[in-house]
Amino acid sequence: MPKDERIYIGVDLGGTKILAAAFDSKLKLLATEKAKTPREADATSVVQALADVVRRLVAQAEASSGREIGGVGVSVPGPLDRAKGIVRYTPNMGFKDYKLGSELSSLFGAPVFLENDVQAGVYGELRAGALRGKLNAVGVFVGTGVGGGIVIDGKLYRGSTGSAGEVGHMILQEGGAACGCGNYGCLEALASRTAMAKDAIAQASTGKAPILFSVAGSDLRKCRSSVLFEAVEGGDKGVKKAVDRAASWLGVGLANLVHVLNPEAIVVGGGVVTRFGQKFLDRAIASMEDHLMPGLSGTAEILLSELGDLAVPTGAACIAIEGSRRDEDGPARDGGKR
Ligand SMILES: [Zn+2]
Repeated sequence: MPKDERIYIGVDLGGTKILAAAFDSKLKLLATEKAKTPREADATSVVQALADVVRRLVAQAEASSGREIGGVGVSVPGPLDRAKGIVRYTPNMGFKDYKLGSELSSLFGAPVFLENDVQAGVYGELRAGALRGKLNAVGVFVGTGVGGGIVIDGKLYRGSTGSAGEVGHMILQEGGAACGCGNYGCLEALASRTAMAKDAIAQASTGKAPILFSVAGSDLRKCRSSVLFEAVEGGDKGVKKAVDRAASWLGVGLANLVHVLNPEAIVVGGGVVTRFGQKFLDRAIASMEDHLMPGLSGTAEILLSELGDLAVPTGAACIAIEGSRRDEDGPARDGGKR
């Protein structure tokens, strides 16, 4: 079958859910499928669940198009060896130096490419979302944590060992809130949903967040973005303060990125931003402007994610499309361009 008529799959393999999407070779979305990631899972049951999602997706996409799989891109939340298709480690999913690429490749009978989840999200926005056509850009995703990716000259910048783009661990306030990485005052510890939730719960204990308290008590895990959003909309002053504070810190982070990288655009996405939308972003932009050096104001467009949840599967599918082309055409033919 000519490669341009095949379907390409992008999978976002996350700690809580698996989201997969099928595209044609021009990146037209054909179908999506999702499932919960098995809890307390070992690698075998995660692979099983992933394979089931992809089979259902292919059945759906083939029913409408009669096409074969040309390639699969899988994004994973953890360090990888992309060339060897090995997942070095993931929290909660039991992968440890796991040959996920070759295992999935023999299951699907198609080439499989692995990518870090945040990098895949930035790549999706670059190829098909808010960063389309940009050459120098940054992606910042605010959710449970804060992740990011850097685009230089139209390509993902990976750094010397592949870990570039850890924007969430820029230290903005030495001695500030504790971060999951062991440091204090990282952007992630100040602006993630977890940071907002901790702050909001502290406010609830002083009676300034009655709606949040009635829904979530002091359970951090129950303070999802939607719960925080509804508490703010309902008039919880304490929660609003926590969210505003996080947006302001995000702005400080954006100012740092503009100073260091001088990007033409920064796309901001993730669960928190999707839920709170442009208002949240506007507050972050105002704070960024407050912190920019003279002359840099207005040099970077700050954009909302266009692809939302589909950014990661879209980026993973792009990597599969480009990777399969490279495999068939030999090295250096595509030069990283679509
Ligand atoms: Zn950190």
